[in-house]
Amino acid sequence: MVGSLAGLCGALLLGACVGSSSKTAQTTPQQPPPYYGPPGYPQQPYPNGPAGPMYPPPAQQPQQPQQPQPPAARPLLAPLIGTPAMQQELRGVLSELINALPAQKQALVRGIPLVFDPTPEVNAYAGCDEQGAPFLAATAGIFDAVDAIAQTKATDELFGTRTYEAYTSAVLPEMSRNPSARAGLPAGIIPTNLGPDLRRWSRAHELFDEILAFTFGHELAHHYLGHTGCAKGQSPSAGPDPARLGRLLTNIPVFNQFAESAADTEGAMNALDAGRARRPQYSWSEGGGVYLLTYFADIERLGGGGGPLSLLSPVQFLRTHPNPLARVPLVQTVARTWHLQHPG
Ligand SMILES: [Zn+2]
Repeated sequence: MVGSLAGLCGALLLGACVGSSSKTAQTTPQQPPPYYGPPGYPQQPYPNGPAGPMYPPPAQQPQQPQQPQPPAARPLLAPLIGTPAMQQELRGVLSELINALPAQKQALVRGIPLVFDPTPEVNAYAGCDEQGAPFLAATAGIFDAVDAIAQTKATDELFGTRTYEAYTSAVLPEMSRNPSARAGLPAGIIPTNLGPDLRRWSRAHELFDEILAFTFGHELAHHYLGHTGCAKGQSPSAGPDPARLGRLLTNIPVFNQFAESAADTEGAMNALDAGRARRPQYSWSEGGGVYLLTYFADIERLGGGGGPLSLLSPVQFLRTHPNPLARVPLVQTVARTWHLQHPG
Protein backbone atom coordinates (compact mmCIF):
# COMPACT_ATOMS: atom_id res chain seq x y z
CA MET A 1 0.00 0.00 0.00
CA VAL A 2 1.43 3.32 -0.99
CA GLY A 3 -0.14 5.56 1.54
CA SER A 4 0.07 4.89 5.21
CA LEU A 5 -1.85 6.93 7.68
CA ALA A 6 0.10 10.08 7.34
CA GLY A 7 0.51 11.26 10.87
CA LEU A 8 -0.23 10.10 14.35
CA CYS A 9 0.20 12.54 17.11
CA GLY A 10 -0.55 12.91 20.69
CA ALA A 11 -1.56 9.52 21.79
CA LEU A 12 -2.67 9.96 25.33
CA LEU A 13 -0.33 7.28 26.56
CA LEU A 14 2.20 7.00 23.83
CA GLY A 15 2.72 10.68 24.07
CA ALA A 16 4.14 11.31 20.67
CA CYS A 17 3.85 12.26 17.06
CA VAL A 18 4.68 10.14 14.05
CA GLY A 19 5.74 12.05 11.00
CA SER A 20 4.47 11.48 7.49
CA SER A 21 7.71 9.77 6.53
CA SER A 22 7.11 6.90 8.89
CA LYS A 23 6.44 3.66 7.07
CA THR A 24 4.22 2.05 9.59
CA ALA A 25 2.84 5.07 11.29
CA GLN A 26 0.59 5.34 10.61
CA THR A 27 -22.64 14.08 18.67
CA THR A 28 -24.96 14.96 19.96
CA PRO A 29 -25.09 17.38 22.97
CA GLN A 30 -25.76 15.62 26.20
CA GLN A 31 -29.37 15.64 27.20
CA PRO A 32 -30.31 16.73 30.69
CA PRO A 33 -30.01 13.54 32.69
CA PRO A 34 -33.27 11.76 33.29
CA TYR A 35 -34.34 10.99 36.79
CA TYR A 36 -33.30 7.40 37.16
CA GLY A 37 -34.96 4.90 39.40
CA PRO A 38 -38.36 3.96 40.58
CA PRO A 39 -40.87 6.63 41.58
CA GLY A 40 -40.21 7.78 45.06
CA TYR A 41 -36.57 6.75 45.07
CA PRO A 42 -35.21 8.64 48.06
CA GLN A 43 -33.02 11.58 47.14
CA GLN A 44 -30.73 11.15 50.07
CA PRO A 45 -27.25 12.54 50.45
CA TYR A 46 -24.49 10.21 49.40
CA PRO A 47 -23.51 8.17 52.47
CA ASN A 48 -20.09 9.68 52.87
CA GLY A 49 -21.07 13.08 51.65
CA PRO A 50 -17.93 13.80 49.65
CA ALA A 51 -17.64 17.23 48.13
CA GLY A 52 -16.05 15.74 45.06
CA PRO A 53 -13.75 12.98 43.91
CA MET A 54 -11.60 11.69 46.71
CA TYR A 55 -8.26 11.32 45.07
CA PRO A 56 -5.90 8.56 46.05
CA PRO A 57 -3.58 8.34 47.79
CA PRO A 58 -3.33 11.38 50.03
CA ALA A 59 0.42 11.68 49.68
CA GLN A 60 0.05 12.17 45.95
CA GLN A 61 -3.14 14.20 46.02
CA PRO A 62 -2.88 17.17 48.32
CA GLN A 63 -5.84 19.09 46.93
CA GLN A 64 -9.50 18.47 46.41
CA PRO A 65 -11.11 20.06 43.38
CA GLN A 66 -13.95 22.49 43.81
CA GLN A 67 -17.36 21.06 43.09
CA PRO A 68 -20.17 23.52 42.78
CA GLN A 69 -23.10 21.24 43.54
CA PRO A 70 -23.51 18.96 46.52
CA PRO A 71 -24.09 15.39 45.34
CA ALA A 72 -27.48 15.24 47.01
CA ALA A 73 -28.75 18.01 44.74
CA ARG A 74 -27.90 16.15 41.57
CA PRO A 75 -30.35 13.95 39.71
CA LEU A 76 -29.39 10.34 39.29
CA LEU A 77 -27.88 9.43 35.92
CA ALA A 78 -28.61 6.19 34.11
CA PRO A 79 -26.04 3.38 34.28
CA LEU A 80 -23.59 3.30 31.39
CA ILE A 81 -23.44 -0.32 30.34
CA GLY A 82 -22.11 -1.77 27.10
CA THR A 83 -19.94 -0.54 24.26
CA PRO A 84 -22.63 1.31 22.23
CA ALA A 85 -23.72 3.31 25.28
CA MET A 86 -20.13 4.22 26.13
CA GLN A 87 -19.31 5.21 22.54
CA GLN A 88 -22.41 7.37 22.39
CA GLU A 89 -21.47 8.94 25.72
CA LEU A 90 -18.05 9.85 24.37
CA ARG A 91 -19.66 11.50 21.35
CA GLY A 92 -21.69 13.63 23.74
CA VAL A 93 -18.64 14.55 25.85
CA LEU A 94 -16.69 15.46 22.72
CA SER A 95 -19.52 17.64 21.50
CA GLU A 96 -19.64 19.49 24.81
CA LEU A 97 -15.88 19.99 24.78
CA ILE A 98 -15.95 21.46 21.27
CA ASN A 99 -18.93 23.70 22.04
CA ALA A 100 -17.04 25.19 25.01
CA LEU A 101 -13.93 26.06 22.99
CA PRO A 102 -13.24 29.62 21.84
CA ALA A 103 -14.44 30.19 18.26
CA GLN A 104 -10.96 30.09 16.79
CA LYS A 105 -10.13 26.68 18.23
CA GLN A 106 -13.63 25.41 17.53
CA ALA A 107 -13.19 26.16 13.84
CA LEU A 108 -10.08 23.98 13.79
CA VAL A 109 -11.65 20.88 15.29
CA ARG A 110 -15.39 20.92 14.58
CA GLY A 111 -16.38 17.97 12.45
CA ILE A 112 -13.27 15.89 13.08
CA PRO A 113 -14.44 12.26 12.98
CA LEU A 114 -14.18 10.02 16.00
CA VAL A 115 -13.23 6.43 15.23
CA PHE A 116 -13.22 3.42 17.50
CA ASP A 117 -10.09 1.29 17.49
CA PRO A 118 -10.78 -2.32 18.57
CA THR A 119 -7.39 -2.84 20.21
CA PRO A 120 -7.38 -3.72 23.92
CA GLU A 121 -4.52 -1.30 24.57
CA VAL A 122 -5.61 1.56 26.79
CA ASN A 123 -5.21 4.54 24.52
CA ALA A 124 -6.72 7.54 22.80
CA TYR A 125 -5.05 9.47 20.05
CA ALA A 126 -5.22 12.19 17.45
CA GLY A 127 -3.94 11.59 13.94
CA CYS A 128 -4.19 12.32 10.23
CA ASP A 129 -5.36 9.86 7.56
CA GLU A 130 -3.83 9.28 4.10
CA GLN A 131 -5.57 12.36 2.75
CA GLY A 132 -4.23 14.49 5.57
CA ALA A 133 -7.63 14.71 7.20
CA PRO A 134 -7.69 14.77 10.99
CA PHE A 135 -9.32 12.12 13.13
CA LEU A 136 -9.64 11.22 16.80
CA ALA A 137 -9.55 7.65 18.05
CA ALA A 138 -10.57 5.81 21.20
CA THR A 139 -9.50 2.22 21.74
CA ALA A 140 -11.69 -0.49 23.20
CA GLY A 141 -9.12 -0.58 25.99
CA ILE A 142 -9.70 3.01 27.03
CA PHE A 143 -13.41 2.33 27.48
CA ASP A 144 -12.57 -0.75 29.56
CA ALA A 145 -10.21 1.26 31.74
CA VAL A 146 -12.37 4.35 32.16
CA ASP A 147 -15.39 2.23 33.04
CA ALA A 148 -13.37 0.30 35.62
CA ILE A 149 -11.88 3.44 37.15
CA ALA A 150 -15.29 5.15 37.27
CA GLN A 151 -17.07 2.18 38.82
CA THR A 152 -14.47 1.51 41.48
CA LYS A 153 -13.92 5.15 42.41
CA ALA A 154 -17.66 5.72 42.63
CA THR A 155 -17.98 2.74 44.94
CA ASP A 156 -15.09 3.83 47.13
CA GLU A 157 -16.33 7.43 47.38
CA LEU A 158 -19.80 6.34 48.43
CA PHE A 159 -19.10 3.40 50.65
CA GLY A 160 -15.55 3.81 51.89
CA THR A 161 -14.48 0.60 50.18
CA ARG A 162 -11.14 0.00 48.47
CA THR A 163 -12.34 -1.47 45.22
CA TYR A 164 -10.04 0.67 43.06
CA GLU A 165 -7.07 -0.81 44.84
CA ALA A 166 -8.51 -4.32 44.48
CA TYR A 167 -9.10 -3.75 40.76
CA THR A 168 -5.67 -2.32 40.01
CA SER A 169 -3.92 -5.01 42.04
CA ALA A 170 -5.83 -7.73 40.19
CA VAL A 171 -5.57 -6.39 36.65
CA LEU A 172 -2.67 -4.02 36.13
CA PRO A 173 0.24 -6.43 36.73
CA GLU A 174 -1.12 -8.74 34.03
CA MET A 175 -1.61 -5.80 31.69
CA SER A 176 2.03 -4.88 32.07
CA ARG A 177 3.09 -8.44 31.21
CA ASN A 178 0.65 -9.07 28.39
CA PRO A 179 -0.26 -6.26 25.98
CA SER A 180 -3.43 -8.07 24.93
CA ALA A 181 -4.76 -8.36 28.50
CA ARG A 182 -8.00 -6.47 29.03
CA ALA A 183 -8.36 -3.56 31.39
CA GLY A 184 -12.02 -4.25 32.13
CA LEU A 185 -13.42 -4.63 35.63
CA PRO A 186 -13.46 -8.32 36.64
CA ALA A 187 -16.48 -9.83 38.34
CA GLY A 188 -16.24 -9.88 42.09
CA ILE A 189 -14.39 -6.60 42.62
CA ILE A 190 -17.57 -4.66 43.42
CA PRO A 191 -19.29 -6.23 46.45
CA THR A 192 -22.50 -7.86 45.30
CA ASN A 193 -24.64 -5.93 47.79
CA LEU A 194 -23.34 -2.62 46.39
CA GLY A 195 -23.47 -3.50 42.72
CA PRO A 196 -27.07 -2.49 42.04
CA ASP A 197 -26.95 0.77 44.01
CA LEU A 198 -28.34 3.52 41.77
CA ARG A 199 -26.25 6.27 43.34
CA ARG A 200 -23.14 4.22 42.62
CA TRP A 201 -24.10 3.88 38.95
CA SER A 202 -24.90 7.57 38.76
CA ARG A 203 -21.60 8.63 40.30
CA ALA A 204 -19.76 6.23 37.97
CA HIS A 205 -21.53 7.87 35.03
CA GLU A 206 -20.35 11.30 36.18
CA LEU A 207 -16.78 10.08 36.58
CA PHE A 208 -16.82 8.28 33.23
CA ASP A 209 -17.67 11.56 31.52
CA GLU A 210 -15.19 13.54 33.59
CA ILE A 211 -12.28 11.24 32.74
CA LEU A 212 -13.14 11.28 29.05
CA ALA A 213 -13.48 15.07 29.15
CA PHE A 214 -9.82 15.37 30.15
CA THR A 215 -8.77 12.60 27.75
CA PHE A 216 -10.38 14.17 24.70
CA GLY A 217 -9.71 17.73 25.79
CA HIS A 218 -6.08 16.60 25.54
CA GLU A 219 -6.54 14.99 22.11
CA LEU A 220 -8.47 17.94 20.67
CA ALA A 221 -5.61 20.18 21.79
CA HIS A 222 -3.11 18.15 19.77
CA HIS A 223 -5.15 19.03 16.69
CA TYR A 224 -5.82 22.72 17.30
CA LEU A 225 -2.30 23.36 18.61
CA GLY A 226 -1.00 22.03 15.33
CA HIS A 227 0.85 19.02 16.74
CA THR A 228 -0.74 16.71 14.19
CA GLY A 229 -0.33 19.15 11.33
CA CYS A 230 -3.65 18.15 9.85
CA ALA A 231 -6.30 20.24 11.58
CA LYS A 232 -7.93 22.21 8.85
CA GLY A 233 -11.45 22.50 10.08
CA GLN A 234 -14.32 20.39 8.79
CA SER A 235 -13.05 16.98 7.78
CA PRO A 236 -14.36 15.65 4.47
CA SER A 237 -13.88 12.03 5.48
CA ALA A 238 -15.50 9.81 8.01
CA GLY A 239 -12.09 8.90 9.37
CA PRO A 240 -9.88 5.90 8.68
CA ASP A 241 -11.15 2.36 8.77
CA PRO A 242 -10.80 1.13 12.34
CA ALA A 243 -9.39 -2.13 11.02
CA ARG A 244 -6.32 -0.27 9.83
CA LEU A 245 -5.72 1.60 13.06
CA GLY A 246 -4.07 -1.24 14.93
CA ARG A 247 -0.88 -1.08 12.97
CA LEU A 248 -0.49 2.57 13.90
CA LEU A 249 0.26 1.40 17.37
CA THR A 250 2.93 -1.04 16.32
CA ASN A 251 5.26 1.83 15.67
CA ILE A 252 7.10 3.42 18.55
CA PRO A 253 6.65 7.12 18.08
CA VAL A 254 9.08 9.81 18.96
CA PHE A 255 8.34 11.22 22.34
CA ASN A 256 7.64 14.93 22.50
CA GLN A 257 7.34 16.10 26.07
CA PHE A 258 6.66 19.71 25.16
CA ALA A 259 3.63 18.80 23.06
CA GLU A 260 2.33 16.44 25.73
CA SER A 261 2.61 19.04 28.48
CA ALA A 262 0.84 21.59 26.29
CA ALA A 263 -1.93 19.09 25.56
CA ASP A 264 -2.26 18.21 29.26
CA THR A 265 -2.56 21.90 30.11
CA GLU A 266 -5.21 22.45 27.45
CA GLY A 267 -6.96 19.20 28.29
CA ALA A 268 -7.42 20.24 31.90
CA MET A 269 -8.71 23.67 30.92
CA ASN A 270 -11.02 22.24 28.26
CA ALA A 271 -12.57 19.86 30.77
CA LEU A 272 -13.03 22.69 33.27
CA ASP A 273 -14.46 25.11 30.71
CA ALA A 274 -16.88 22.52 29.34
CA GLY A 275 -17.68 21.44 32.89
CA ARG A 276 -18.62 24.96 33.87
CA ALA A 277 -20.75 25.35 30.75
CA ARG A 278 -22.85 22.33 31.65
CA ARG A 279 -24.19 23.70 34.91
CA PRO A 280 -26.58 23.01 36.55
CA GLN A 281 -25.62 19.50 35.54
CA TYR A 282 -22.57 18.01 37.25
CA SER A 283 -19.58 20.24 36.47
CA TRP A 284 -16.51 18.36 35.34
CA SER A 285 -13.37 19.19 37.28
CA GLU A 286 -9.72 18.31 36.85
CA GLY A 287 -10.51 15.22 38.90
CA GLY A 288 -11.02 13.03 35.82
CA GLY A 289 -7.55 13.85 34.57
CA VAL A 290 -6.02 13.19 37.96
CA TYR A 291 -7.77 9.83 38.21
CA LEU A 292 -6.62 8.82 34.75
CA LEU A 293 -3.01 9.89 35.18
CA THR A 294 -2.86 8.23 38.59
CA TYR A 295 -4.11 5.06 36.92
CA PHE A 296 -1.26 5.24 34.43
CA ALA A 297 1.17 5.70 37.29
CA ASP A 298 -0.35 2.64 38.93
CA ILE A 299 0.13 0.59 35.76
CA GLU A 300 3.76 1.50 35.80
CA ARG A 301 4.17 0.90 39.52
CA LEU A 302 2.27 -2.40 39.65
CA GLY A 303 3.93 -3.58 36.48
CA GLY A 304 7.34 -3.12 37.99
CA GLY A 305 7.95 -0.18 35.72
CA GLY A 306 9.69 3.04 36.41
CA GLY A 307 13.38 3.51 35.95
CA PRO A 308 15.39 1.31 33.64
CA LEU A 309 12.91 -1.58 33.83
CA SER A 310 10.43 0.43 31.82
CA LEU A 311 12.72 0.22 28.83
CA LEU A 312 12.18 -3.54 28.75
CA SER A 313 8.47 -3.49 29.33
CA PRO A 314 6.28 -5.27 26.79
CA VAL A 315 3.83 -2.41 27.13
CA GLN A 316 4.76 0.18 24.61
CA PHE A 317 3.70 3.22 26.55
CA LEU A 318 5.75 2.23 29.59
CA ARG A 319 8.78 2.59 27.38
CA THR A 320 7.77 5.77 25.67
CA HIS A 321 5.37 7.96 27.60
CA PRO A 322 6.21 10.68 30.08
CA ASN A 323 6.10 9.79 33.75
CA PRO A 324 2.41 10.07 34.63
CA LEU A 325 3.19 11.19 38.15
CA ALA A 326 4.88 14.23 36.67
CA ARG A 327 1.71 14.97 34.69
CA VAL A 328 -0.53 14.98 37.79
CA PRO A 329 1.00 18.09 39.41
CA LEU A 330 0.87 19.91 36.09
CA VAL A 331 -2.86 19.24 35.76
CA GLN A 332 -3.41 20.29 39.39
CA THR A 333 -1.45 23.51 38.92
CA VAL A 334 -3.40 24.39 35.79
CA ALA A 335 -6.63 23.70 37.65
CA ARG A 336 -5.67 25.86 40.63
CA THR A 337 -5.06 28.79 38.29
CA TRP A 338 -8.30 28.11 36.45
CA HIS A 339 -10.29 28.04 39.70
CA LEU A 340 -8.77 31.36 40.78
CA GLN A 341 -9.82 32.84 37.47
CA HIS A 342 -13.32 31.37 37.71
CA PRO A 343 -14.50 31.94 41.28
CA GLY A 344 -17.95 30.79 42.27
ZN1 LIG B 1 -0.92 13.47 23.91
